[in-house]
Amino acid sequence: MDVLSGRTTNRALRRQNRATLLSALFLDGPLSRQDLTARYGLSQAAVSNVIADLMDDGLVVEAGALESDGGRPRILLRVSPDYASVIGVDVGETRVRVELFDLAMTPLAKADYPLEDLDPRSVVRHVRHGIESVAGGNVLGVGVGVSGLVEQGDQAVVHAQTLGWDAVPLERMLREGTDLPLHLDNGAKTWAQAEHWFGAGRGARHAAFALVGSGVGAAIVADGQSYRGASSSAGEWGHTTLVYGGRACRCGARGCLEAYVGAESIIARALEAGVRVEGPDEETQVASVLADPAAAGVLAETAAYLGAGVANLINLFNPERVVIGGWAGIALGPLLPQVREAAAAQAMRRPFAQASIELCALGTDAVALGAATLPVARLLAAGGVRD
Ligand SMILES: [Zn+2]
Repeated sequence: MDVLSGRTTNRALRRQNRATLLSALFLDGPLSRQDLTARYGLSQAAVSNVIADLMDDGLVVEAGALESDGGRPRILLRVSPDYASVIGVDVGETRVRVELFDLAMTPLAKADYPLEDLDPRSVVRHVRHGIESVAGGNVLGVGVGVSGLVEQGDQAVVHAQTLGWDAVPLERMLREGTDLPLHLDNGAKTWAQAEHWFGAGRGARHAAFALVGSGVGAAIVADGQSYRGASSSAGEWGHTTLVYGGRACRCGARGCLEAYVGAESIIARALEAGVRVEGPDEETQVASVLADPAAAGVLAETAAYLGAGVANLINLFNPERVVIGGWAGIALGPLLPQVREAAAAQAMRRPFAQASIELCALGTDAVALGAATLPVARLLAAGGVRD
């Protein structure tokens, strides 16, 4: 490493302090200067200076005062909701959703486009229309959550076997239509980021986020950071083997977890068991299975398979918390006690005792919210300095 000159060191330190305080105000605000001083062991003067800078830049604003016994009231601070807006895009298997948020992550506008085909060009067209229709002025950036493996590099490339996408240069295709800063990531990871920052994963340093829908995936947060692997494909939990040589999976292998607990498999196994399945789409079909007393056996099995999958996450990653979400995961919510029981039977005792297994808190639509946090994460890490 190069030796830093005194001035560079100061500048780097100042930027680091800006990142620390800005992140704290974004994730846990409103907070007072006193709170920040106590939390980070910085001097009062350092906190006051950095906050003054952030306020000058319009990033931080006052958010009322807290009466304190005898002393002066403490002024509360927060990240300014109006500093910029961000756009989150959810590219699912059935629709594209584009949503605009302010910096308090309050939704401001939304556009949905059902997917009539899975051609990447159709998807890109919908995303562009969506961005044009929701974007106001001063957009910080666009985050895109997409099914499949998102290989980060100069420009992100998407491999999505279930969409029939093989090395689709999605970032390059999107860039042709917009000048806004773009960030792409796997949809399960963006969903997990939303649950980690604002939902059932809040405050956990080590967590596993299990997404169960048509497909099944997981995102791992290890020591506060998203675990990605060599090319960002880590977390393909749905395609870990549950039953060697078992049911055929959409990925081409056999016996994957997804082939037992994914929505398609729940429906297929119900039909095989003679359960009547009703409804025009997977969501209503899964709901009809859940409501049918004749499906009790299939559902007990599903809970057991899911519990075994959760046990694998616990044994591999030793999380404090496992958060189960996705529309099918939420629909299976009433089976959570059985899922826990199965996980208890399959996991090592000690790590199981240290992990709680919870249902997600943000509902089914958090992929776009999580995607919108990608440009925010960049801003926070840069201490509010925009590139
Ligand atoms: Zn598979």
